[in-house]
Amino acid sequence: MKNNGVLIVLSAPSGCGKGTILSTVLEQNDNLFYSISATTRAPREGEEDGKHYHFVSKDEFMQLIDRDEVLEYTTYCDNYYGTPRKAVEEQLAKGRDVILEIEVDGAMQIKNSYPNAVFVFILPPSIAELKRRLGKRGTESEEVIEGRLKEAVNEIAMAYKYDYIIVNDELEKAINTLNCVIGGEKQTVSRMINKIDEVLDNA
Ligand code: ADP
Ligand code: 5GP
Repeated sequence: MKNNGVLIVLSAPSGCGKGTILSTVLEQNDNLFYSISATTRAPREGEEDGKHYHFVSKDEFMQLIDRDEVLEYTTYCDNYYGTPRKAVEEQLAKGRDVILEIEVDGAMQIKNSYPNAVFVFILPPSIAELKRRLGKRGTESEEVIEGRLKEAVNEIAMAYKYDYIIVNDELEKAINTLNCVIGGEKQTVSRMINKIDEVLDNA
């Protein structure tokens, strides 16, 4: 029997660097599936529908909720964001590890429905550095940045509820730590039972 994959929930305040960290970690892990969220937010320059997000209208998002097609959803800075259920369930059943890049409210919903998921929070070295990074990315107006910084403080206060904290100070180190967390979680006894049984069966 094949084990289900590991569900990894990754949260971090916007601008903290989770997209940057994740793009490398995904390149390095063939077995890792990135769940593409649905959102009502407008695409940023360079973002593609079906790759970065499924960009949908508010009506379409409401239909996803009504049909129970999202595992969790929330509103964040006046837009809806949610995790499409089907792809996640299919990939986990195939034994692939799945990563959700979602904010804290959605993460806590997943904690209720998937208590065995692994919860990872990426911290910025400081709020001042977070502000600098958001400004450097240059994709949001000053007003949106201020809104996201306020949201960041509330989100960081929820970090205590997670299993692992990774400080994105040095990018390379943060990438390695996330790889170690995923690698370590795959070796826990509950996820290795089939292997123990196999060795004993052939004794
Ligand atoms: P998020 O996905 O969390 O919103 P991004 O990955 O878009 O954040 O990163 C925000 C900005 O910070 C980008 O300009 C990125 O290049 C920069 N950045 C990410 N990690 C680091 C780091 N460790 N040190 C310095 N800058 C970083
Ligand atoms: P952004 O607009 O910067 O892409 O994302 C804003 C916030 O929404 C980030 O914290 C991101 O992790 C979160 N987010 C993205 N997709 C989802 C989702 O499907 N569900 C939830 N709950 N949050 C999401």
